[in-house]
Parts: sequence; C-alpha cells; structure tokens
Amino acid sequence: QDVAGSEKNDDGEDLSSKTGVELLCVVRAVLKKIRRRVLVGDKVLVGSIDWVDRRGMIENVFHRRSEILDPPVANVDHLLVLFSLDQPKLEPFTLTRFLVEAESTGIPLTLALNKSELISEEELESWKIRLRRWNYEPLFCSVGTKDGLDAIAFILRNQTSVIVGPSGVGKSSLINILRSNSGSAMEEENWFEPILGNKGFEDQRVGEVSTRSGRGKHTTRNVSLLPVSEGGYLADTPGFNQPSLLKVTKQSLALCFPEIRKLIEEEQCGFKDCLHIGEPGCVVKGDWERYPYYLQLLDEIRIREEFQLRTF
Ligand code: GDP
Ligand code: ZN
Repeated sequence: QDVAGSEKNDDGEDLSSKTGVELLCVVRAVLKKIRRRVLVGDKVLVGSIDWVDRRGMIENVFHRRSEILDPPVANVDHLLVLFSLDQPKLEPFTLTRFLVEAESTGIPLTLALNKSELISEEELESWKIRLRRWNYEPLFCSVGTKDGLDAIAFILRNQTSVIVGPSGVGKSSLINILRSNSGSAMEEENWFEPILGNKGFEDQRVGEVSTRSGRGKHTTRNVSLLPVSEGGYLADTPGFNQPSLLKVTKQSLALCFPEIRKLIEEEQCGFKDCLHIGEPGCVVKGDWERYPYYLQLLDEIRIREEFQLRTF
C-alpha cells in the first residue's frame, strides 16, 4: 500500500485506495544490505509506484505478527496440522513431534486427520477420545470422499494458514482441492492465480542477485499464498517437512504440551527452571499418556543444547 498520497492511473482512477491491486516490486537496496528479508505474507511499505506499469519499490517491512521458516511465510495466523489415520498409519510420537513444532511457533493450530474412510467408526472414535486427552479437538476428513472438508474450509476463512504434516498424508491433495473448489464454501472469483508470491520470472531474478552478491546458492522454496473465501489465504506449499524443534528449549518444551500447559501456567512450579521430571514442588506428575514422549524430546533437546554450548 502506498501511503504517500493518492495516485491516479491513466484513466484518472484512484488506485491507491483500492485493495487487490497487484504491483511488481523490487526490494530497496538498503533493506538487502541490512539483511531485512521480505517474506511472502509481509505487510510492506511501497514507494516509487508506477501505476501504468504497475511497478513499485518495497521501502520497508512492517512488524510481523508471526513468522515461520518452513515454508518462509510472515504473518501466519493459523497452522493446519494434517495427518492421515491410515496409509501412513497415525503414529502418536511422530504426531507429537509435529504438534510440538507447531505449538512452539505460538501460532494457533487445528489438528485434522485425513483418510477417515480407511478406518472403522470405532477406531475413529478411539482416536478422538485419545486426542481429547492430549487437549486437542481433531477434525476428521477425507480428501478422497470429500467428507469433512466443509469444516476445514470454514476454519481457513479470514486468516492466513499453512498446512503442515509428514509426507503422504494428503497435504497436496487437500491444497489442490481447496484451490479448485468453487463449491459451497468458496467464492469462485477468489480462486484466481496466486496473488502473492515469488514464482516464475521474479524468482529467477532473485536467484541472479543472490549469486552475484556471493551469498551462496541457498535454494529458495517457492511459496505463494492462495486466496480463500472472505479474505483468507492458504500457503500452496506444505511446511515442517522435518520438525527440527530448533525453537524449543528444555524449559519451553512442556509448554508445547497443552495437556499440562495449563497446570504449569496456573499453579507455577516450585522453581523457575523446573523441567517437571520429579523435582520437589513440581505440579506436573508423570501420569499422562505423552509423558514418555516428553522425556524423549527433552533428551533430544538437551543433547542439542549441550552440543551447541560446546561448539560456540
Ligand atoms: P502429501 O505428501 O501430504 O502432500 O500427500 P499427497 O496429497 O501427495 O497424498 C498422498 C497419497 O494419499 C496420494 O496417493 C493421494 O491420492 C492419497 N490420498 C489423499 N487423500 C486421501 C484420502 O482422503 N483417502 C485416501 N484413501 N487416499 C488419499
Ligand atoms: Zn515442574
């Protein structure tokens, strides 16, 4: 958005007050110099606008509400953690890893379980009960039979979402069906080409620049935001291929488990750096299903932190 004042195109039409005007922008050199990366989803200040050629220059990047790096998207409001109930089978520890990674971003998440047609009602019910004990209210769906997709489309409205989950669970299939769906939940005219993103021509130019600056050829993952109905966006690239848990510390790990988070926040443990592994005065006991997973991840993070200490 250009805040410098009203701008008119050839027909005298004021474009600056319009939403949805696309401008092809370059990033101001000084931003690159201070390594201020512009991400898909960023709110930016655009100047030097040429309304005829629809070009401009990104002068500044506004403060981000949130940011994820895999895929790189700013101002993400919502994560859709997608797993399948079968093919591949729902594996509780893998699910926990993805949930912990998602929780560690601080971004609200929804858990959805795909391929519901592959398991029995009883199995589905027992997963629901089990996941409720983890403090999640899962949505069940099948991209194959289209069961439960309306509920998913509904939660994607009005916000910017990224779908995350392991391979083979149906993330691409879901993105594709939401992209092409012009039925009840979606407004057809909103399913244009991606309006934000760095595909094609622009991407090649970015590649050239980074080669010249000698900053190494790190592969940029393509990501675009697809508009969904009523102002929401969905990243076309799934995320968290390998949850690295890099943002999780020994102390913050427990807060990534909603079934004990409340307990910790409300009752406060005996001492500040409690790891909840039987310290005196700790309010967290070992009587919850995912406690062994917690211990396993805690070990992993401890090893990583010790390694980092030795290296730096
Ligand atoms: P991704 O790796 O998570 O992006 O998964 P894909 O979208 O590539 O899907 C992996 C496989 O699962 C493909 O063969 C899909 O056709 C299949 N698949 C996706 N959704 C469903 C579903 O609801 N039921 C069944 N049975 N198969 C599905
Ligand atoms: Zn404790």
